[in-house]
Formats: sequence, C-alpha cells, structure tokens
Amino acid sequence: MSSPALPTRFEPKALEARWQAEWDRAGAFRAPDRPSGPPFSLVLPPPNVTGVLTMGHMLGDTVMDVLARSMRMRGAPVLWVPGLDHAGLATQVEVRRRLAKEGVRFEELSPEAALAEVERWKEEHERRIGEQARAGGFSLDWTRYRYTFDPASVRATREAFVRLYRSGLIYRGERMVNWDPALRTAISDLEVKHADEASELYYVRYPWADGTVGGIEVATVRPETIFGDVAVAMHPDDPRASESVGKFVVVPLCHRRVPVITDPAVDPTFGGGVLKITPRHDPVDREIASRHPDLTDPVEIFDESARLTGPWVPTTFHGLNRERGRSRAVEELEREGFLVRREPYRHSVGRSERSGEVIEPRLSTQWFVRMTPLAEPVVAAVRAGEIRIHPERWTLTFFRWMEGIQDWCISRQVLWGHRIPVDRCRSCGKETVSVEPPTKCEHCGSTDLVPDPDVLDTWFTSWMWPFAALGWPERTGDLRAYYPTNVLVTGRDIMFFWVARMMMAGYRFTESKPFSDVYFTGMLQDEGGRRMSKHVGNSPDPLDVIGEWGADAMRFGLVFPNPTSEDGRFGPTALEGGRNFLTKVWNLARFTLGYVPPGRAGVRGPPSLSSDSALENRWILARYRRTVEAVDAALHGFDPTGAASVLHDFVWHDVADRFVEISKGALSGRRGDRALEEARETLLFVVERSLRLLHPVVPHVTEELWHALPHDRDLLATAGWPDAREAPTDPAAEVEMEAVLESIRLLRNLRSEERIPAASVPPAWIRPQGPEVTRVLTQHSATIARLARVQPLTFLGATDPAPARSAGRVAPLGECYLERPAASGEESEALTREREKLHELLEKTRTRLADPGFRTRAPPDVVRAAEEKAHELEERIRRIDDHLKPHASGPAA
Ligand SMILES: [Zn+2]
Repeated sequence: MSSPALPTRFEPKALEARWQAEWDRAGAFRAPDRPSGPPFSLVLPPPNVTGVLTMGHMLGDTVMDVLARSMRMRGAPVLWVPGLDHAGLATQVEVRRRLAKEGVRFEELSPEAALAEVERWKEEHERRIGEQARAGGFSLDWTRYRYTFDPASVRATREAFVRLYRSGLIYRGERMVNWDPALRTAISDLEVKHADEASELYYVRYPWADGTVGGIEVATVRPETIFGDVAVAMHPDDPRASESVGKFVVVPLCHRRVPVITDPAVDPTFGGGVLKITPRHDPVDREIASRHPDLTDPVEIFDESARLTGPWVPTTFHGLNRERGRSRAVEELEREGFLVRREPYRHSVGRSERSGEVIEPRLSTQWFVRMTPLAEPVVAAVRAGEIRIHPERWTLTFFRWMEGIQDWCISRQVLWGHRIPVDRCRSCGKETVSVEPPTKCEHCGSTDLVPDPDVLDTWFTSWMWPFAALGWPERTGDLRAYYPTNVLVTGRDIMFFWVARMMMAGYRFTESKPFSDVYFTGMLQDEGGRRMSKHVGNSPDPLDVIGEWGADAMRFGLVFPNPTSEDGRFGPTALEGGRNFLTKVWNLARFTLGYVPPGRAGVRGPPSLSSDSALENRWILARYRRTVEAVDAALHGFDPTGAASVLHDFVWHDVADRFVEISKGALSGRRGDRALEEARETLLFVVERSLRLLHPVVPHVTEELWHALPHDRDLLATAGWPDAREAPTDPAAEVEMEAVLESIRLLRNLRSEERIPAASVPPAWIRPQGPEVTRVLTQHSATIARLARVQPLTFLGATDPAPARSAGRVAPLGECYLERPAASGEESEALTREREKLHELLEKTRTRLADPGFRTRAPPDVVRAAEEKAHELEERIRRIDDHLKPHASGPAA
C-alpha cells in the first residue's frame, strides 16, 4: 500500500483508522498455526463484560502491545489472544442496577427473562469493548477471540471441576461464609472490604434462670442476633467463672435458657468480659461452640436477605431487616429493663465490594476448593525463579498471601454463571459429577436427577485462561505450539483473585507454569493525584481520548515519562507531551523526505564512513548503536518506559536537534557531493531505523512515515527489528562531538543569561583546555559559531588576556566568553530604577540583621533566610552594575 505524500501537519485520526484496517486486511497479527522457531505468546486479561475498557486497560494493553510488536519484528511467531470475561456476579449486579432504574426487580423476572437481560447487556458491552481495543491499535489475533462463557469454556470449566472433585480437592461443606444479603449470595473473602465504622456497644443483662436476683451482663454490638444465642461465655480465668459456670441464664426477649460456659477465646477486656454465643452468625462464636458439644444446635435466625425469621425469633420480629431488628430489640430490652447501658463504639465492619451491603457471616453449605495442595508447587516455582514477578518488590506480598491461603468458596447463589456440574439423585441420594451433563445417576441408573442450584465463582473459569484460551482440555495445535505463554501483564489489584490462581491451575491441570513472567502495571491517577476510578468519574473513556489526541499520543503518554510499573499521573499534560513528540518525529521524517532521491530502494544499512567523514555522521551512528542497545536492554527487562525514554532523547535531541542542525551545511550541498551523500545516507538510515524502534510504542504514525520513506517490505509491523551491530562503535567521534556540543551549550547558556536578543550575533571567544580539545574545537569552529549564533569565534592561547566587556564561564573543556551588549538608554533607565528598588530592600534587610535583638530572638532558619536574602540582593545589584558600566570590568567568570 502506498501512502500519499505527507501533509504538513500531523493529523492522527484518518491515518490511524487506515492502518488498523490495513493490518487487519493483511492478517498481520494472525499467529501461524504451525510456528517455526520459538514463539512469543500471551493472553489478554479478558476484560469484564461488566463495563467498558478504562484507561487502566489501555495502559496494560499498551505494555503488552509493545512487547508483542517488538517480538514480532524480531521474527518470533507471536500469538496474543483477545477475550472477554462473563464476570458472573459482577455482571448480574450491573444488570440488576440497570433494571432497578427502569423499575424492574431482577429477582422477580423468570430465569429465562433475567438471562435474556444479561445477554442483552453482554452484546452491548462486547461491541463497545471491541471498538475500544481496535481503536488502540493493539496487535491482537482477533481470529482467536475467546469468551469465558463460550462452549469450549463451559467444557473446560466442567472438566476442571470434575478433576478436582475426583482428586478430593473439591468438597461441599457447611462453613461460615461472607453472605451478601442484597445480592443473596456468598462472596469470597477477597470481595469484602473492611473499614472502621461508628456503632454502639450495648450492655444487656441476662437474668439467672433459677430466679436469683441479678444476672450476667453481656456486651454486644449486635443485639438483634440475641435470638440465635446458645450460651454466654467468659474467660476461664475470670473470677466470676467458679460460681457461674454450670448455671443457666435466660436470653431476654425470647425467654430461652442457655448455659454459662468458659472458653479461652473470650477476650476478657472486651465489654465486661462476657460474650453471647451466636454460632451461626459469628466465626469466633462458631469456633467456641465447636469446643462445647453439649450446646444446643443453633437454628438460623435470618433469611437470605438477612431478615429475622425462624422458630427462635418472636413473631413480632419476623421480617425485620438487621437495622430495624436492632432498633426494635434495643427498644424492647430497654422497656423490659434488660438494657443496662449503651456507649459509642468504633469497630471494623466488612462490606460487600459488589453491593456495599454489610456482610452477614452466615453458616451455609457451599462448595470449596482445598487450596494448600495447589499453592505448594506455585510457591516453589516462584522461589526457584521458574516464574518471575516484575517489579520484583511484589514477590514478598505474593508469598505472604500464598502462605496464609484459605480454602476457596467457589459456589455462588446467582443466576449468571457456569452451573456446578453436580446432579443429586432423588432415588439413591448420591451425587453424579461429570463433564457431560448426565442423563441418569451413575450409581443407581435413576433418571430422577436434581442439578445443583448454584453456579461457580467467575474466577473458577478465568483461573484457567492461559491454557483454556488455547483450547484446553483438547490437545489443540495452539496449546502445543504456544503454551506455556511468555508473559502475563495485569494490575496488581488482581494478584490474588487471578494471577496466583492461574499459577495454581497451571501446575494442577497442565503440570506446567502458565507463563514465565508476570508484570504488574501501576494504577493510574488523574493529574490531581487521585486514583482514576469510574465512581469518582475521573477516568475518561479511551475512545474520547483517542478521538481527541489519537491512539499513538495516548500510548506514548501512557508509557512516558511515568514508569508503567508505578502509580502515576496521566492526563492532558502527558497526552500533550506525546503529541508534541509525534509532531517532532513527523517533521523529522518530512525533512528527511526532502533529501531522498526519487526511486530510491529501501534502507539496507548505514553508509560506510571513513575516519575523514564528517564528525556528525560518525557520531550519530555511534549514538544510534548505543540507543538500540539500550532499547533492547529495556525491553528485555520489561521496561517499556525505559525504551520510550531512550528513544525520545535520541530522536528529539540527538537526531532532530543536533544532527539535523549540524548537517544542514552538508545537506545543502555547500560542502560538496560526497559530504551531501554521506549526510543524506546517514540521516535516512537513522530516521528509518528510529521508526522501526518506535513502532511498538506508536505503531500508526511510524507505519505512515515508514511508507513515505523508501522501503522494501509491505508493512513496518512485520518488518525486521534493528540489529545494533549494524552500526559501528566510534568512541573517538563520541568524545569529540561531546566537546563541540558542550561548547555550544556553554555559549547558548551565556546568551540566555545575558539576555542577548535572538537576532543578534555577538563575538565570542574560547580558550580550549589542552591541545586535543583545541584541535577538535578549531576544526569545528564553523559549526560551533553557527549553532551558538556567535560571530566571529576566536580561539585564545593560554597567555592571551580575557576579552574586555564580556561574560565568561569556566568549564572542563576550557573557558568561553561572549561579548556583553551595552545597555540602551531605555534599558539603562529601567535597570537604574530596578537597582534603586533592590537597594532599598537590601538596606532594610541589613538593618534588620544589624539589630542584635533580631539575631537572638528569631529562629535560626529565619536569620539564615535573611542573610541569604541580603546576599542575593547584593548579587543582583552587582549584575546590574556590570550592565550599566560595561567598560569598567573584565569578565565576570
Ligand atoms: Zn441414584
């Protein structure tokens, strides 16, 4: 495909869409079915269908694309699998919320109608997510797109369940779970957010059952659970224990007799040291009850929405939620004289991340995975360096969690999710667990089967993603060719939800690591330093960002200057930086194009220079070689920001500013044909190769510019990656050029310090340090004079006096002087007025410092600040004096 001649202005919109279509048409990102040579593969963390992509996704996707594109250019067969996650409970919550706005209760729909609503949601969001990912220009293999609820995923999920079940690693048990009463399902520990909240502590008197006066004072934050009590407990060392244990008290409001017991788990410092024991609604109470087998089996007092119910709850309380139940209980306890006192109390409350509702610890029958046996090989693999975590500091966090790992509750009481592949037989009561949905009981042959009503936690599917997305459990070609994958890039917020579990699933189901490297991206903040979040509303839609700035500017702004592995700010400043850089690259390519002879073939390699070739050519090739080496090292170390930073400096400063400026003389033809050709070939080589190096970060603009320049291949996206060794090393040229650039820098600094107008070209002098520097600088004096805009440039010998009426600087390479302009009449007046003002200030400061009272009373740093102020004022006055009396003094070095 040929590009039209480059327009003057860089306008990303049309060219980005054009190249995305072209890459698609050419199948540039389709991975070969039978790769030759070591492949590079990765899975895209499938975004949740819950919402659309955020800037956080764009950051991760850009990091992955930089790795994938650079590996593809290096010649590796690259497979990057896109996907979508059905996100079970989270999606159902969103659909429920949307329906509620329309006045429809999700729970009141028939299962078919409810699932149709979920499906509608999925279609809409899938389309939007696809558009966003395509607009970012990510080199995904869309022909291998997967969904965590497609038929192959259903099969993989059932297969995994059945295997774990048969190895005894899945069990069904009554456990204390985190119950979300709003969503009426269990959720995992990781989905509960704990925070301190203001509450009250109630002291309630439980009267003695034998009618003796008094009773025992019990402290509780949850008086509404009083109906579920089976005992009251104190610590064995409590002085009251000897006379109380064995006695009974009456639970107020429901008049049941319960015993007084002792248990070491009771905290003697909490409240009055006596706890009520409600085993179905508190994990500690349950543990205590388990040590006292004589206690009555507790009865459930809440329904699935946490409303009071059941035989132990007085009917007047039935149907009250926890809040209303609590205020009613407190009211009645007070009226009946059981409430001793109440006091404000702060304590940690767990809320559901999904609904915001307070979690009800609830004893319920759920499915669990035994995690310890799965975690062991993973911990060993990370310790042995078989899987590496980047940045390495997260390894510690990882180990800490893995070592305290709990069994995973995988059943959910929601509609949207993979069914648990268990059927219970009504004839023999046994379970049939199979990959294919069974038609009859595998124990007695009965067809009277009842499927388990629950569905699986969404992570139970996504933890298999690196191999399930490649076709597991089938031994597919992709699985053989591209598994294990190379790298997983994701946010550290799902380190435990997902990354750790993927490792466990990998070793369990494939006897292999799922990936060699894990890279955690940082969390983006807005420009004010607040974490970007949908709820705060400070996370822009990527499509809006791309529409305004272009995908390339967005990508560059995401990787530079803030490191992709750190929490950092992203917004208009970063985007503008990205766009300015791309405009610089655009203009550099247009400039280069102006020197390309028509019909020229693609760039095969650098021009062969000799030692008498122009210094700037030799220098830029040497700098180019170092740049490629640094980019290679950065990408190898999973540091896209390092690569972008090196390229930004090289292209902007070394090539566009220095090299182009210095070689203008040669390029104009004034220095002869050979100089022209060498300069042109050097420029073309360096620019063409820079476009290749920049391509993984900013693919669209580089593809466009590369096509405008001479090229042999069809697409830059599949062209070769530069080999650093193509260009020679040339330490001598680097040292020499450094001296030339340094002298230009010094003279430019003097110009700006002396506020010399841009149009004026003052005389300058250099006294070089030593014969070698003298040789280099005199040889390049024309370049120095031209770039520093000085005329004439005179070289001084060791004994020559410093020029009069000049400003100077001493540096390692020698001394530089610049003629100081005489102040004009108008300037002189302004300077004189400024001098008077400064002098007045100086006098005030001096008076203050001369006051002994000030020096003794004021804090030392205030005194020091005043001294510094006086010094600074003196210095500014001296400089004005220099300007006003230009003939009076020598150089101010
Ligand atoms: Zn049966």
